[in-house]
Amino acid sequence: MNGITLDKTAQEFVNQVEELSHSNLSQCWHCLCCSGGCPFSKDMDVLPNSIIRMIQFGMKEQALNSSTIWLCVGCNTCSMECPNAVDMAAIMDALRQMAIRKNAKIAEPGVLAFHNAVVDSISRYGRTHKLEIMMRYKFSEKDLFSDIDLGLKMLSKRKLDLLPSKVKDKKSIQSLFKMSGEVS
Ligand code: SF4
Ligand code: SF4
Repeated sequence: MNGITLDKTAQEFVNQVEELSHSNLSQCWHCLCCSGGCPFSKDMDVLPNSIIRMIQFGMKEQALNSSTIWLCVGCNTCSMECPNAVDMAAIMDALRQMAIRKNAKIAEPGVLAFHNAVVDSISRYGRTHKLEIMMRYKFSEKDLFSDIDLGLKMLSKRKLDLLPSKVKDKKSIQSLFKMSGEVS
């Protein structure tokens, strides 16, 4: 790929990312359109296109340990900007999945805690119960009180429901999660 000869492990990493993201990394010509359009690039430790470079060089650990993959919010701006239809947002998703599965060092554990709280809510109710998500997240961060004023204000304006609303067909939701391997 791009004149670089990778060893077997590095090539496997490239293949895995391509398979999970349905993207062809060799299509990237590092034009920086994705990084230039990313609203969060200034807070990331490496630019989004550099993540592709890392993968192309077989730098698995560095890519999976990067803050970039966790600060990406999946807004798809980069994927829309890419002239070669490289789906950067899907690549970030693939790397997050791989980081979790491989127990990699998570650069932004708070983001993962929030992600887990959202996924847990959807798996149980088929919907997000925002109050519970916030409570679970704050609990995992051992920071129950820093936003209490905001929480009470939202409750008083009925922006947060005390009880979760649930979809009727919860079994279908749970079977989707089982198929994806997110819950046992
Ligand atoms: S916009 Fe596409 S081709 Fe350009 S650097 Fe980003 S992923 Fe690569
Ligand atoms: S999907 Fe992620 S990497 Fe792409 S522009 Fe949005 S935040 Fe940036």
